[in-house]
Amino acid sequence: MKGVAVPADAVDSAAREASVPADPRLRITEIFHSIQGEADAVGWPTVFVRLTGCPLRCVWCDTEYSFHGGEWRTIDGVLAEVARHGARHVCVTGGEPLSQKRCLILLASLCDAGYEVSLETSGALDVSEVDPRVRKVLDLKAPGSGEASRNLWSNLAALLPHDQVKIVVADRADYDWARERVAEHALAARCQVLFSPVHGRVAPRELAEWILADCLPVRMQLQLHKLLWGEQPGR
Ligand code: SF4
Repeated sequence: MKGVAVPADAVDSAAREASVPADPRLRITEIFHSIQGEADAVGWPTVFVRLTGCPLRCVWCDTEYSFHGGEWRTIDGVLAEVARHGARHVCVTGGEPLSQKRCLILLASLCDAGYEVSLETSGALDVSEVDPRVRKVLDLKAPGSGEASRNLWSNLAALLPHDQVKIVVADRADYDWARERVAEHALAARCQVLFSPVHGRVAPRELAEWILADCLPVRMQLQLHKLLWGEQPGR
C-alpha cells in the first residue's frame, strides 16, 4: 500500500515534541527568595532560579559556584518551589541559563503561570527563541571581562523594548568600549542600557562622572543585593 505523504515541517515538529520528555529536568544550583539587586526590576521581592553551568569565564565572575554541581530538578518541581515563596517576580539566572536548552521550557512555563519573568544571560548564546513575555537582561561583555570575543552580536536583533542590555565596566578602557558600542549599535533606541561598575575595580562615583560628562543615554546601576548582604551566595 502506498503511504500518505507527510509534510516535512510536520515531521520536524513531531520529532521535536518526541525529544522533550514528559517531565523535563534542569540542573539547578539554587532557588532562593531575595530582593532583585539589578536591572529594571531592582528592588522587587523576587524568586531567583539559578541554573548550573556556564561556557564563559569572565575574570570578575561572582557566581563561580554555579559552574559545576547542582541538582537535577523537574520543571514541575521548580515551579512548585517558586510558588512556595509567594513572589510575583521570578529571575532565571546562572551561570548561563541558556546553556541548558530546556531553560526555554522553564521560561515559558513561568510566564504561563502568571509571573513577571526576567532572564539574565551572558549574551554569548542565541536568545531568539526566548518567550517574548520574558524580559531579557542581555550582557555585552567588555574587554576587561576577558570574554569580549564571545558576544553574539546577532542577539541585538532579538531585543524587545522591555529588554535591557547590561555592560559591566572594569576600567576606563571598558567604559570607552561601552560608549562606542552604544553609539555604533544605537542601543539606547532599542531598549534600556545599563552600565554597572565591577565591585572593587571602578569607584561608582567615577563611573557616574564619566556617564555625566558624556551625557550618555544609559542607566547606571549598583548591585543592591551586595550593598545589603555582601558576597553571600543565595542572596
Ligand atoms: S557569563 Fe556570568 S556566570 Fe558566566 S562566567 Fe561570565 S559572569 Fe560568570
